[in-house]
Amino acid sequence: MNFELEFNNTFVNLPDKFYARLKPVPVKRPKLIKINKELAEYLGIEVNNTNSKIWENVFSGNKIAKSAEPLAMTYAGHQFGHWVSQLGDGRAILLGELISKDGYRKDIQLKGSGRTPFSRMGDGRAWLGPIIREYIVSEAMYKLGIPTTRALAIVETGETVFREKEFPGAILTRVANSHIRVGTFQYFASRQDFKSVKILADYVINRHYPECRGKNKYIEFFKTLANKQVFLIAKWMSVGFIHGVMNTDNTSISGETIDYGPCAFMDNFSFNQVFSSIDQMGRYAYKNQPEIIKWNLACLATCLLPLIDEDEKKSINYAQNIIDGIANTYENFWLNNFRTKLGLMKKENQDKYLINNLLDIMEKNDLDFTITFRKISSLEIENNLFNDIKDLNEWKIKYITRLNKEQQKSNDRINNMQLKNPVYIPRNHIIEKVINEALGNNYTEFNLLAEALSNPYKEKKDFQKFSKAPLEKEKVLKTFCGT
Ligand code: AMP
Ligand code: MG
Repeated sequence: MNFELEFNNTFVNLPDKFYARLKPVPVKRPKLIKINKELAEYLGIEVNNTNSKIWENVFSGNKIAKSAEPLAMTYAGHQFGHWVSQLGDGRAILLGELISKDGYRKDIQLKGSGRTPFSRMGDGRAWLGPIIREYIVSEAMYKLGIPTTRALAIVETGETVFREKEFPGAILTRVANSHIRVGTFQYFASRQDFKSVKILADYVINRHYPECRGKNKYIEFFKTLANKQVFLIAKWMSVGFIHGVMNTDNTSISGETIDYGPCAFMDNFSFNQVFSSIDQMGRYAYKNQPEIIKWNLACLATCLLPLIDEDEKKSINYAQNIIDGIANTYENFWLNNFRTKLGLMKKENQDKYLINNLLDIMEKNDLDFTITFRKISSLEIENNLFNDIKDLNEWKIKYITRLNKEQQKSNDRINNMQLKNPVYIPRNHIIEKVINEALGNNYTEFNLLAEALSNPYKEKKDFQKFSKAPLEKEKVLKTFCGT
């Protein structure tokens, strides 16, 4: 164990045009608010009650380890469908890479760490609210078994950040398999710099997709990533998660959920649900997410075409085949997730209709997504479950008929289903409350919520308030990007 982070860096070995080297801008009065002990230990970082001073300096960017090679990454991207040729880390610094206890290479990034050459009009900082939101939601995702970047620490900066008004500034230490995005490829491809696209693709394949090395490695990489991304979106759909800003610069090449901005888990189910205040057209609504990932992957394919085959027609053909297969792959993942949620082990043709029928009923009756699924899994369906909702009662009859085709014992089924249908999700109204309390320097609710979400399938009396749907007056209908 060590009080100095021992980085082992590879990204910095890429040519200069992939990043700008610079240190985080020091902050006035760093104060460690949260450290994720489990994750720290996994990364070989020793945290105890006596050394928090060291870590608040490290995770604020005030103290830089000798082995760090801090840098801001370059990228571009399509934002809400519009091309932006220059983005890049405008308020984040990659400190370097750490090797985890089980031998995985992890990026360690400070988010909110000050201005960089890519800051454009921004101040390079983040305020406490979105930092808390990202900590809570990304860790909840992880515990729900959904690929995601993780949160290692929150430090308050002791400085204020101006958004609509003044707020306390904060920095999140983010841990990711990769911070390379579809937009990183687009940056070079849009400049016709295919030499760099190849360097980047080779780096990504060596680091993240070694199984694709060999013949046709670029198309193999594309196929594998497409599969991962589609898997990810099907997972989001199965917990009612809406990312909110599925821009190509927020689409990771490691297939992890990244960049938690105006994201949210749904309360009452609606196919058209949007939370992000900037998503006026509903481009990134819940139901659009599977189509959007296809669009984002097609953007990546365009960048890779010159690498795939010398014959452009052949390249297009290979890529098109994969893109054409996405809908089917998605449907299989989606069916698999919802079948498991409903305790269906066998595959029956009508399952798709049974699931969609349930979702339609939930939408029509304004039912809470998480609670409804948990109820289905928690109670013997034969009990008087849902007697008050006529549609659901009719659905129940079809569901029981379907369950009769299963061989699993009822008790086993219920146990298995409870491991697939969470009690606790990070509900928006609760996150807002936690943020408000944190603004008053009270982190009790934050810590309690983090604990509840660390075991989302296990009901516990102390956490009861986190499992409830919001009252009408508590509902949060919009999340803001003023991050
Ligand atoms: P995001 O919406 O977080 O995915 O960010 C989109 C782009 O805006 C990225 O290039 C960010 O680095 C940049 N950005 C967001 N907020 C700020 C900020 N406060 N200061 C500088 N750049 C920012
Ligand atoms: Mg982003």
